[in-house]
Amino acid sequence: MSPSPLLQVSDLVKHYRVGRQALRAVDGVILEVARGETLGLVGESGCGKSTLGRLICCLEPPTSGSVTFDGVDVLTLPERALRRMRPRMQLIFQDPFASLNPHKTVRQIVGLPLQLWERARGEELHRRVSELLETVGIDPRQADRFPHQFSGGQRQRIGIARALACKPDLIIADEPVASLDVSIQAQILQVMRDLQQRFGLTTIFISHDVSVVSHVSDRIAVMYLGRVVEMGPAQSVIEHPLHPYSRALVGAVPRVGEAAEAERLRLKGEPPSPLAVPPGCRFHPRCYLDQAPECRQVEPELRALAPDHLVACHLAETG
Ligand code: SF4
Repeated sequence: MSPSPLLQVSDLVKHYRVGRQALRAVDGVILEVARGETLGLVGESGCGKSTLGRLICCLEPPTSGSVTFDGVDVLTLPERALRRMRPRMQLIFQDPFASLNPHKTVRQIVGLPLQLWERARGEELHRRVSELLETVGIDPRQADRFPHQFSGGQRQRIGIARALACKPDLIIADEPVASLDVSIQAQILQVMRDLQQRFGLTTIFISHDVSVVSHVSDRIAVMYLGRVVEMGPAQSVIEHPLHPYSRALVGAVPRVGEAAEAERLRLKGEPPSPLAVPPGCRFHPRCYLDQAPECRQVEPELRALAPDHLVACHLAETG
């Protein structure tokens, strides 16, 4: 880990009031992302990973905790300073159709951030839009078409071009391939990998699919019910997952000849509601290990079991 990570998230909490209850969407997340690194954030739907992405981008305020970006606590910034910082953090959305204005041409969509933040006009604007489209593999001669005239994969490329327009320091890609066919997913993942290498982008790649995350990530953080339960180098987390939940996620990826092991690790039931988080280890109602008494009483903290490989499980050494 770099001595000065680009992003530090400390004890970040987001609770929503639902009647008299608190929906604990994000519940004490700690993580860091180094410059030029891709952190994969993986977990089942509803585990809080998309909410975490929105909190980091300051799209909604947290209940408590801090987000430090390039040395600045962004949650305490005045509105004007926050506006100046926004172009440095960009989101790529899951649905490439809903996230593009159907009434604007691709030139207008990709050009808007350049006009707003860099005051690009005329020939310079035209040239930079063309460069961005070429970067993501779209023919600039198609720039005056509308989003509906492109395929799903092309629309996601256009969304990536828009995110790159202001040369952001951090990109948060929220399920960017989830709505695409598998063959198109591979193309978009390749585009993202190429861009990471070419521009040294720092990226948080959010997905429910551990195999997708493993293709693009340097490190992986596994989220369960609002908390990170394991975090480490991508290869370690995929090949030697330490948390029972991570093992189940990795084991759920279909592999020829491993049906029995996949069955042993199959998770039972749905995740508990974030309105009723279980006491102790929040994974204990679904944990298939022989549990210790503290599993139901004490919330396990993230701790290092190997260099840079953290896990939140009381029995990680023996399980
Ligand atoms: Fe399972 Fe206990 Fe580890 Fe939680 S702390 S994952 S219940 S063994």
